[in-house]
Parts: sequence; C-alpha cells; structure tokens
Amino acid sequence: DVTNTKGLTFQSFGLSKEVLLGIHDMGFDAPSPIQEETIPVALEGRNIIARAKNGTGKTASYSIPIIQKIDTSRSKVQALVLVPARELAMQTSLVIKELGKHKKIESMVSTGGTSVREDIIRLSQTVHVVVGTPGRILDLASKEVADLSECKILVLDEVDKLLSIDFRSIVAQIIEIMPKEKQVMLFSATYPQEIKDFQSKYIPAPQFINLMEELTLKGVTQYYAYLEEREKLHCLNTLFSKLDINQAIIFCNSVKRVELLAKKISQLGYSCFYIHSKMDQKDRNRIYHDFKSGETRCLVSTDLFTRGIDIMSVNVVINFDFPKYSETYLHRIGRSGRFGHLGLAINFITEDDKHDLFKIEDELHTKINPIPQDIDKNLY
Ligand code: ADP
Ligand code: MG
Repeated sequence: DVTNTKGLTFQSFGLSKEVLLGIHDMGFDAPSPIQEETIPVALEGRNIIARAKNGTGKTASYSIPIIQKIDTSRSKVQALVLVPARELAMQTSLVIKELGKHKKIESMVSTGGTSVREDIIRLSQTVHVVVGTPGRILDLASKEVADLSECKILVLDEVDKLLSIDFRSIVAQIIEIMPKEKQVMLFSATYPQEIKDFQSKYIPAPQFINLMEELTLKGVTQYYAYLEEREKLHCLNTLFSKLDINQAIIFCNSVKRVELLAKKISQLGYSCFYIHSKMDQKDRNRIYHDFKSGETRCLVSTDLFTRGIDIMSVNVVINFDFPKYSETYLHRIGRSGRFGHLGLAINFITEDDKHDLFKIEDELHTKINPIPQDIDKNLY
C-alpha cells in the first residue's frame, strides 16, 4: 500500500532542499499514494479530510508540508498536531524531528502523565511544532503557557478517536483558542458521523482525499425475517436446509450469544466455528485462517470480524441479531465495490429491532424486503 501509483516524486512538490534531505534520511524513495494526494494540497494551504488505511504513510503526509511551511526565523509555535494517545505523540514527534532535522525544526511532545513544569520550561524556549494529546494541550493553551497566536496549522490525526465523546469538547475548545484563519487537516482510517458534524462547524471547504475502498451494498440482496427471539434457531435451521450456502457468517451482538449459538448450530449437526474478541489472538488467527481458506463453512461472529474482512466465497450473511447502527450493518454485509460478487443478507428482526431496521434502511438509502418463500439462487 505504499507503492507509488501516480509516479510522482518528492522533488516534484517544490520542497526545499532541507526538507528533501530529511525525507532522504528517513529512507523514503517515493511518496506513498496518500502522500502523493495530500502533500500538494496541503502545501497550497487547503483544509483536508483524508482517509487511508493504517500503515500507508499518513504521518509524513502532514509532517512534510508542516516542515516546509514553518518559518524558522520565528520562534513561535506554528503547528499543532493532536493525537489520541501518548505513545503516538512520541512517535509522531520523532518523525517530525527526523524529517525536520536539516531545517532545524524544534518539535516537542506534550501529553498527560508527564510534568507540566517541564512543558512550561520547554515552551519558554523555541518550539515550532507541538505534538500532544488534547487534555494537556488545552491545559497549557488555556493558561496561556502555550502561545498559539501564530499557530496556523492544526492536524487531527486518528480524528475519529479525537472526536469521540471523550475528547470532542476538549478538541473544540482548543480550536476556539487558535487563530480563526488556519489550515486544518484531518486524518483517519474511518469516517464516522462525528467528523461530518465537526467538519461543517470548523472546517470550511475541505478537500476530501479518500483512498479507502468503499463498502457498498451493491450486489447484496437483503431480506428480513420478522420473528420472535425463540423462533430464531428454527428459522436458521430452515435457511441452512433451503439455501445454497458456499460460506456463511452469522452475526450475534454479544460474545455470550456467539458461543451459545455456535454450540446450538453444532448440535443441529452442522459444522460451525466461532470467533470473538475475548478469544486469544492465536485462536483467532487460526479460526480466521481456516475460514479464509475455506476449511470452515460457517462462522458465528461478533462485530470483531466485520472490519476489513474480505472473503470472497462468503455468499450468505445472517444477522441473527440485528445491529443497532447503520455503520455496523454496512461493515457486516457491505462489500468492496470493485468486486462484483453477489451476496445474500438475511436479517432476523424482532419487535425490538423494527425501529432500527427502518432507521438503517433510511440512513443507507437501501431497501430490505421481507424474505420470500423461495429465494432465487441466481441472486447469490
Ligand atoms: P499511518 O499513519 O498511515 O498508519 P505511518 O505514517 O505510521 O502510517 O507510516 C507507516 C510506515 O511507513 C512508517 O514506518 C513509515 O516510516 C513508512 N513510510 C511512510 N511513508 C513512506 C514512503 N514514502 N516510503 C517508504 N516508507 C514510508
Ligand atoms: Mg497514523
């Protein structure tokens, strides 16, 4: 995922010699796809909302433009990078230091769990970039220890976490303290609703850069069976005997229910495995591998399994328990658009789920029909 797709070079971005030397020191030969897309836009000063998978080089995507833009003749903080965890702050600051070495960029880390006094001393010296976690940064900025009056670049890395309920209001307060005229860059692998709300309030005219494969419901025929909780197992048994299942994933909403259902399916005489987050990683890997290689035909799972799963031979997904959120629904049954494989999704809907069914249909602009007597085998 870091192989260059457009064939651009770091030299083509018009970066200064010092910055190119820093990139060279990092051992980067050519920009990764997200860097190719992001760096030129960031250098123009535009707001950015970027999405790319983990490990594709997002850190340098914002660090390189930051370093290029910093005016080292001024000793004030000119860029703030917020991240949701202390270790990540350390790691990010190290990248900025290394990339900015030849330009003599001063980067500091400021997070909870460290001495405030040391932060204060450090901030009395030259600092160009601050990398930190929201709580400490707000603390320093609101006490005017950290002077953000010339800080015109803000990065929110792992922004989905930064806008989660724990951090959201702190991040908003930091933004209020910063200059009105600033460049904001958001980086994340997922793009939840929180970002959309935040964006409309704080990020005018962003450039969207999205390198994720989109999940779509294209090619997936969706049905629901309206039933009572105690009828679910019987219904599942009927489906097993009627459907042409190549491989199936069956979702439950809790670890307990996954284990229980897997046991019951085995008692019905079908071979079946289960996977969930409370299992140790070695078992998880083994089960995943057996399922992916086709050795296991039926897998009962929690939502652990929904992200990034890419198993083409799964043609049936059953929501034994209906999910609460459209995002979860999409991750369970959505497929990457570029593979035109067909699939069947069957949702067990109890009285309690009705409301969520309508909500999810609405939010995903999709139609989930009642299950017919006979399902056309050409649909999946
Ligand atoms: P992300 O934030 O997208 O998860 P990182 O920024 O942490 O990814 O980068 C992942 C790894 O890829 C790091 O080890 C980084 O040094 C390396 N890397 C980033 N950009 C390049 C590049 N252009 N060429 C080679 N390696 C790169
Ligand atoms: Mg990252």
